Amino acid sequence: MDMVPNNAHIRPPGPPVGAAADWTIPQRWAQYTPAEHAIWNRLFTRQLAQLQDRAVPAFLAGVQALGMKPTGIPRFEDLNEALDRLTGWTVVAVPGLVPEEVFFHHLAHRQFVAGRFIRSAAQLDYLEEPDVFHDVFGHVPLLADPVYASYMQAYGEAGSRLHAGSALTELARLYWYTVEFGLIRDGDRLRIFGAGIVSSNGESEYALDSPEPLRIGFDLKRTMLTDYRIDSFQKNYFVIDSFEDLVRRTSVDFRDIYKELEGIAPIPVATRLPTDILFAPNPGR
Ligand code: FE
Repeated sequence: MDMVPNNAHIRPPGPPVGAAADWTIPQRWAQYTPAEHAIWNRLFTRQLAQLQDRAVPAFLAGVQALGMKPTGIPRFEDLNEALDRLTGWTVVAVPGLVPEEVFFHHLAHRQFVAGRFIRSAAQLDYLEEPDVFHDVFGHVPLLADPVYASYMQAYGEAGSRLHAGSALTELARLYWYTVEFGLIRDGDRLRIFGAGIVSSNGESEYALDSPEPLRIGFDLKRTMLTDYRIDSFQKNYFVIDSFEDLVRRTSVDFRDIYKELEGIAPIPVATRLPTDILFAPNPGR
């Protein structure tokens, strides 16, 4: 799931009809049709095969540990039993994109907000809003990893301390370039951990193999200044060393960072700075 990226001023004042005060809704698992379960199975099978030597091992371990299989859209209750036991996280359903303060509040309380609808068979590779496949297959396996789980909670806490202004844009970029589109080093190769990549068939190939995008060593301030595209594959990715390293580099008082970045112009996508450490695409196999 993602937060409302912009146009926050036009959002409704409270949760939609039928949602709880915290915007959650029941998953209503029994209402999924066989065709909808079949779409999950198709996407799941295709991505799991694609990701065997592309995803960070912790992602594949999470899929295993949570018992995720191509046996229909998971029931959140079942998923939560395992997830809560492992890291104290749970998945909750929401009606769609939620206002950022709602999003941050849930993360800070180890609740991951997920869409409950699934894309149509005609839209297997194109999504306007995050669906249950992106949210659950893409995001949830890594929440079973204790270090990653703590990063996500800390991110929610940082967001909850925010008020408004450019700091929100900067913090949203951090989420975008780590949680959604992050790459991670694994020896002399790169692997994927961002949910936006693991849930996309095309981008899970492009992000590692294509000579086109820049793959830049993660730097907190550089990442928080870099614009992003929402309408195409990314033109730059950021590469972390490990989840431990990501936690270390983001264990800062963000107020100091916002202050330092105040008034600095954003960095356009696909810009190469002299200070960037660049990574080559993975060698052919
Ligand atoms: Fe997402």
